[in-house]
Amino acid sequence: MSAVVPVYNEAANVPLLLERLKPALDRCVASWEIVFVDDGSKDGTLAAVRAARAADPRIDAVSFSRNFGKEIAIAAGLDAARGACAVILDADLQHPPEMIETFVARWREGYQNVYGQRTDRSVDSALRRTLTRRFYRLFARFGETELPPGAGDFRLVDRKAITALQSMRERARFSKGLYAWIGFKSIGVPFVVEERATGQSKFSYGKLTRFALDGLMSFSTLPLMVWSFVGVVISIFAMTMGVYYLIRTALFGVDVPGYASLIVSVMFLSGVQLLSLGVLGEYIGRIFAEVKGRPLYIVAERLSDTDARAR
Ligand code: UDP
Ligand code: MG
Repeated sequence: MSAVVPVYNEAANVPLLLERLKPALDRCVASWEIVFVDDGSKDGTLAAVRAARAADPRIDAVSFSRNFGKEIAIAAGLDAARGACAVILDADLQHPPEMIETFVARWREGYQNVYGQRTDRSVDSALRRTLTRRFYRLFARFGETELPPGAGDFRLVDRKAITALQSMRERARFSKGLYAWIGFKSIGVPFVVEERATGQSKFSYGKLTRFALDGLMSFSTLPLMVWSFVGVVISIFAMTMGVYYLIRTALFGVDVPGYASLIVSVMFLSGVQLLSLGVLGEYIGRIFAEVKGRPLYIVAERLSDTDARAR
C-alpha cells in the first residue's frame, strides 16, 4: 500500500511523522511505500525527506517546481502511488497514523473509500469553526453532491477509486467533493484530530475563502441559475408598476415628483446587475483556467528517479 503525504514547509514534522507512520504501516501490511509530495517548500523539507530516504528507500518524494496547493499535491501523490490502495494524511500529525490500521481493516472488508470522520473540531479557532459550519450548510443546500459530515482528506482509497480520481484532471480541485462524487462502497471511521505537532496551519482565511468558492462552483451551477429567477421576478414587478402608472396617469394626470423611487430603483438594479456579472466572472475565470489545459503540476524532481540515474 501507499501513504501519500502532502508537505509544505514541514521540515520539523517529517521525522516526527515517520516515527509514528512507519510502525503503523508495518502493523498493517508487509510491503508499503510513503510518497511525500513536496509542494514547493522553502525550508529544509525536501532535505529531511532525502535524509529519511537514505535510511529507508521505501520513502520517496515528488517535488514540485513551486507551491501548487494541497489539493493538487494530493493529486500528484495519487499519480505517483503504486499500491493496491493509498492512504492520504497530513504531515503535521493532526491525522493520527494509528488510525490507518482501522482503515485497512475496513478496506479488507471490501470498502473502497474509507474516510476519517472528525468528531470534533476543537483544535481549530472558533472563527474557523463557525465559517466551516456555515460553508457545509451552504454546500448541503446548493451542492449537487452530498458530502458525508466530518469527512476530509484523511482517508484510504482503493486502486479502483484512485483510477477514478485520476481521471478527473480539473484544476479548481475540491477533493472532498471528488471523493464523494466517485461513489464506491464507502464508510466513515470516527477519529479525533490532534494538535499540530509543530508549526502553524498553512491556510489563511483568504486561502480558505478561495477554496470554499472553488468547492461551491465546482459542484453547483445554482449561483448561475438564480439570476434568471431574480430577472423574472424583477420584470414582473416592473410590468405591474408600468400598468399601475399607466392607469394612474390616465385617471389623475401627470405628477412630477418621483426622484426618490427613481434613484433607489436605479441603484438597486445596478447592484443586482454587477453582482450577477461578478458571479458570471467567477465561473468564466474557472472555465478559462480549465480550457487552457495546462498540466496540473510541474515536477522538479522525483527522488527515486534521481537515485536511479546516479546508479
Ligand atoms: N499543505 C500543502 N500545500 C499547501 C498547504 C498545505 O501541501 O499549500 C500540506 C501541509 O504541509 C499539511 C497539509 O497540507 O501536511 C495540511 O495543511 P495544514 O495543517 O496547514 O492545514 P489545516 O490542518 O489547518 O487544515
Ligand atoms: Mg494541519
